[in-house]
Amino acid sequence: MLSAVENSPVLVLNADYRPLSYFPLSLWSWQDTVKAVFLDRVNVLSEYEHKIRSPSFEMRLPSVIALKEFVLQSRRPAFTRFNVFLRDRFSCQYCAQQFRPEALTFDHLIPKSRGGKTTWENVVTACSKCNLRKGNFLPDVVKMHPINTPRSPTSFELQERGRMFPPNHLHESWRDFLYWDSELENGNDSD
Ligand SMILES: [Zn+2]
Repeated sequence: MLSAVENSPVLVLNADYRPLSYFPLSLWSWQDTVKAVFLDRVNVLSEYEHKIRSPSFEMRLPSVIALKEFVLQSRRPAFTRFNVFLRDRFSCQYCAQQFRPEALTFDHLIPKSRGGKTTWENVVTACSKCNLRKGNFLPDVVKMHPINTPRSPTSFELQERGRMFPPNHLHESWRDFLYWDSELENGNDSD
């Protein structure tokens, strides 16, 4: 029983009923969830079968909750491998083909060996074939320029990118990577 509860993450939605975050999907532990319920900060939208019991109370564990107060997403997105893939729509920025995350690599526009930095502006998603072809050359030398000029995305842009990959179109291998929760598939069929 305890392990069932421990393995039951709770999907957290913003006050507009959209996930607080798609990547990674916003999930809370049951402890944080119970606390928020008691502090009256969330609405419970759906519940798991199993219950949480203590000497003084008993409740079914929520599976989806929504914050009562809208949280503005103003934080700048983290510079992570996954967010770079997401910014570039899981597509090689040289041949424009879409790949699974594990088949993608990163290319430094200005190679590291030539002083290029690992930043939003200098790193693009590339398939291994294109990455190999570009090697340690500058873009002009090998005439390989990224489809989109790389830059730092806003949180909003990344969230919108995330929405472009709805559950039905998610590759199997992405699901674990995203901690995808079937509750979202059932509850987010607006499009
Ligand atoms: Zn490529």
